[in-house]
Amino acid sequence: MQAAEKIASEQEPEIKRGTCPICGMGCFTETQLRDGIPVKVKPDRASPHPADCPRAGQALDYHDHAERVNFPLKRVGGRGQGKWQRISWDQALEEIAGKLATVRDQDGPEAVAMLGGSFKGPGDAAAWRFANLFGTPNRMHLGKNCGEAEFLSEWAVYGEIGAPGMLPVAGVTKCAILWGVNPPASWSGHTLTMLQAARRQGTKLVVIDPRRTESAAIADIWVRLRPGTDGAFAYGMLNVIINEGLYDRDFVERWCIGFDELKALVQKYTPAKVAEITWVPAAQIVEVARLYATEKPGQLSFGLGVVELGKATLSAVLGKNFLRAITGNLDVRGGQVFDDHPELTCFREEMHWERLIHHPLRTRDNVSAHIWPVASVRAMQLYLEAMAKVNPLGPGSAAYMVYPAPTCVWSAIIDRDPYPIKALITQGTNTLVALANAKRIYQAFTSPNLEMHVVMDHWMTPGAQLADYVLPASDGLERPNLGGMWGFSNVYSAAPRTIEPRYERRDDYQLWRELGNRLGQQGEWPETLEGWFDQLLTPAGVSFAELAARDLPWLFPVPQAKRYEQKGFATFSGKVELKSSLLEKLGYNPLPAFEEPCWSPVSTPELAKDYPLVMTTGGSSPFYYRSQHKHLKKLRRQHPYAMLQIHPQTAQGLGIADGSAVYVETPLGRVRQQAQFADDLHPQVVHADGLWWYPEQSGTEPTLAGVWESNINVVIPDDPDHCDYAGDNHFRGLLCRVYPVER
Ligand code: SF4
Repeated sequence: MQAAEKIASEQEPEIKRGTCPICGMGCFTETQLRDGIPVKVKPDRASPHPADCPRAGQALDYHDHAERVNFPLKRVGGRGQGKWQRISWDQALEEIAGKLATVRDQDGPEAVAMLGGSFKGPGDAAAWRFANLFGTPNRMHLGKNCGEAEFLSEWAVYGEIGAPGMLPVAGVTKCAILWGVNPPASWSGHTLTMLQAARRQGTKLVVIDPRRTESAAIADIWVRLRPGTDGAFAYGMLNVIINEGLYDRDFVERWCIGFDELKALVQKYTPAKVAEITWVPAAQIVEVARLYATEKPGQLSFGLGVVELGKATLSAVLGKNFLRAITGNLDVRGGQVFDDHPELTCFREEMHWERLIHHPLRTRDNVSAHIWPVASVRAMQLYLEAMAKVNPLGPGSAAYMVYPAPTCVWSAIIDRDPYPIKALITQGTNTLVALANAKRIYQAFTSPNLEMHVVMDHWMTPGAQLADYVLPASDGLERPNLGGMWGFSNVYSAAPRTIEPRYERRDDYQLWRELGNRLGQQGEWPETLEGWFDQLLTPAGVSFAELAARDLPWLFPVPQAKRYEQKGFATFSGKVELKSSLLEKLGYNPLPAFEEPCWSPVSTPELAKDYPLVMTTGGSSPFYYRSQHKHLKKLRRQHPYAMLQIHPQTAQGLGIADGSAVYVETPLGRVRQQAQFADDLHPQVVHADGLWWYPEQSGTEPTLAGVWESNINVVIPDDPDHCDYAGDNHFRGLLCRVYPVER
């Protein structure tokens, strides 16, 4: 080594602030660089959101991994044969844009669909901008399953969304109910510390979950309900609160309509009846109801466990909204504050539906609007109309939560029903692993009717192996980040890029910009990602560089509680509609009874004889974010296989030993997982790991990186009967049987 080089390498490393490359949460990091190469990534402890979850330590392995996709690839063999040719970005973009133009001109813009997932940049918003300008309403997103059903119901009942990522405010929130969510595993590790701090300052913590999660372990009350019966539990709480006169009479009289109808509906959900349905003791139902109604302010969290329940979803999400409203916990500090500030929203233009609603080339609604009108262009118009008086700018946060149902997109590809979809662009989505009924998705991805499938990702996922083009995405170290919690809130964090992208990796934004510029969208796309961020931040009056340079690089509008007192609620009536006129206009029953999931011991007792166990799937693991990170050896050592959690008594009765291989079977088939005894589970309930694949296996046909082996979505149905009122997949509260692999 030359003397000058030696001196340079012995100098203190350069430290750069940025975001963690591992998942889309965008937690803050400090990266040490030597000669411009990242050598260590640490949590930025000075930031409000340090990268400190168990995955974060693997940032460099992720960034440098030998299996990352680094160059644009074009398929040269059959789909799934693994034969690829490296091409230039220019060639890829010219060919892809050319095909999109042909499909649009021959079949209309609706024949192009897009699927987003765990985004690799602010690509979700850029994709919406592209879709709206192109004229397609067939923009899907995995986020559909991650809360759309809850958010749409909130718009229907009170016209705003009650801060989905909210945690109890220490010293203010008196009662916090974490319902179907385990923040330390689902969101970020430091949330456990926040929950503990709130408890120390007097918050009573209730966790409603079939599993004794990390959050349940520190709770004052853990409610172990039967998966899929959340709606009945909510109605049971409402029964107690209404009949014991514990509701907020003043708020109900001044601000709610439909209370008498709600009161009538919940009469049959007595604690005794609900105990029978949910397997929760009646005394505990009463205890939780009284606690939430009297220890105020009370918070009722957003949680994925309450959606993804198939037919049982609507009563569950509405029930939660009714509870928040009639107890007077809506829009109060420490309860459910509405923090939607459309005037400050960065992604307003990207989300703006008007461009899509009035697009000159669009003649059709999305492919699932005829079955689930609540998630359609028509519904968008109604939401805007209902909000107009209070919120003329339209919704600020989560405005893009109106997606077609994936099951109908597969029908549109395979059967051309209700009309053909011929081109698909997928970003950051391991589709065969992440969505229900993997065999049907496979059928769509291998159908000759799908004339072009483009995947942009970090990895060769099973879906990418079946694509026509695979494009390399940059990671969190290589791109600047304007984090906005997927647009759910008005909290934005800014971090500059730590290093320039390596190889030919590019940000998602560049894909949409380059395609847009080739498809008549010139003038809509600033040249650089930083330039786009500047444009997005205009309403907030700060540039991206200025925000990123702040000690606390966050925009955090102070929540203004009780804004409804000036303008009313953003519904057609201006009140909280316990009987939603919006749902009625769309043809739904706004006050539905609790409905059992499509397969359950009650709704299908005959099926339950053969499939006697109630299955919930997809609980978060602290080692993986959704389907990601299975490549990372240190994480795999902690959680090497898909696990099937089962009560030891049940397992022993079935001849299953702890740690042994088992089949999990539904009427759709079986997959193999590893038994893990969990004596806190109800003996009739099992939890199957979701989102599983084995990237160490051959990526080509027929294995496709182990996608058929343990992936629970191979055996989860996606027919309309199994979907919820918005067309979302049904991942919890199904039936299955489990038996040893030897048999
Ligand atoms: S939650 Fe995601 S972004 Fe945050 S530290 Fe963990 S892996 Fe990194």
